[in-house]
Amino acid sequence: MDNAVYLRRAGKRSVKWDREMPSWVLTCGECGSKFDYCKIDDADLQSHFSPTKPDFPLGGFSMRCANCGSDAIYERTNLTYRA
Ligand SMILES: [Zn+2]
Repeated sequence: MDNAVYLRRAGKRSVKWDREMPSWVLTCGECGSKFDYCKIDDADLQSHFSPTKPDFPLGGFSMRCANCGSDAIYERTNLTYRA
């Protein structure tokens, strides 16, 4: 692949989820599995020691656990920071 094209793509945050990135996670109430809700922006990390929680849908965020299959509604307060 053309190197310039590769670099341009690599610079796009949405192209690849880097597992090493700090992220906001939700924890399944049934089995305790953790899911990524969204990752934390580098710029946000550098400008604030403790990054602000992302916006959450009104009424909560519905998610099915990939591990145990239980559905649950998560609130913004359920978000935890994972470095
Ligand atoms: Zn679960």
